[in-house]
Amino acid sequence: MRKPPELTILYRGPLASCDYDCAYCPFAKRRDSPARLRADRDALARFTTWVAAQDFPISVLFTPWGEGLVRSWYRTAMVELSRLAHVRRVAVQTNLSTRLAWLADADLGTLALWATYHPGQVAHDRFLAKCRELHARGVRFSVGVVGLPGHLAPARRLRAELLSEVYLWVNAAEGHVYTDDEAAVWAEIDPLFGYSRTPHRSLGLPCRTGHTVVSVDGDGTVRRCHFVTETIGNLYDGSALRALRPRPCPLPVCDCHIGYVHLEPLDLYRTFAGGLLERVPAAWPR
Ligand code: SF4
Ligand code: SF4
Repeated sequence: MRKPPELTILYRGPLASCDYDCAYCPFAKRRDSPARLRADRDALARFTTWVAAQDFPISVLFTPWGEGLVRSWYRTAMVELSRLAHVRRVAVQTNLSTRLAWLADADLGTLALWATYHPGQVAHDRFLAKCRELHARGVRFSVGVVGLPGHLAPARRLRAELLSEVYLWVNAAEGHVYTDDEAAVWAEIDPLFGYSRTPHRSLGLPCRTGHTVVSVDGDGTVRRCHFVTETIGNLYDGSALRALRPRPCPLPVCDCHIGYVHLEPLDLYRTFAGGLLERVPAAWPR
């Protein structure tokens, strides 16, 4: 099987359910059938087995539709992958609703979390306590909010009370147009908000996805990223690894951090050096 020098994988299995009820999310309070949960568990086991069998550097970001860490198999996968010598980073997007004791079994030099604060779903004090516990446990993590008007006061309060070592990112709300004054207000909380404020023109521009970064689903189907539907092969039969090569972006714009962070002209690998998948800037705290 052809072996890449290194590979970053965004993994998203069949899971599509969440314990939270955010108004801005299609997965709010959705439940998965037992069959779907079993399929998700089996798919994740197959994926982690594949990663464990490789002998080149791999980084993994779990980007589930919904919340993964409330399922034991995501916690187990995070721990197991973190302990593999050739896994450089394993991170997950999470609402932090789960208890954190499982982290004691992980290699915290490799594991990291991308946590999102959803005001209205969790009390400020409870979320802040989770962040403090993560810090006390020595876990690498970022925290963020969706930049909706109703989130401004909670985000400011969280920023004021979070340790300065913790980066708080703000994602532009989908379909929301920010005036310069509004953007400046959000940039006081997240100095990198400008990257999220408007979609990035990407058509024809070099993007690392499809070459050193791929998106993998539960069947092992590989796409260059979560946003381009064309498949480039399968992880498990080796066809995707054989197809890895530099390629320009085929879409007009890229408006999600987990995509445009790999868009080469933005040079965000330098901005987020050492913390690319968990969204921790290299120069933080400022
Ligand atoms: S926590 Fe995340 S996945 Fe769950 S409902 Fe809110 S936005 Fe959706
Ligand atoms: S720029 Fe965005 S949409 Fe285009 S290929 Fe890269 S990640 Fe995908």
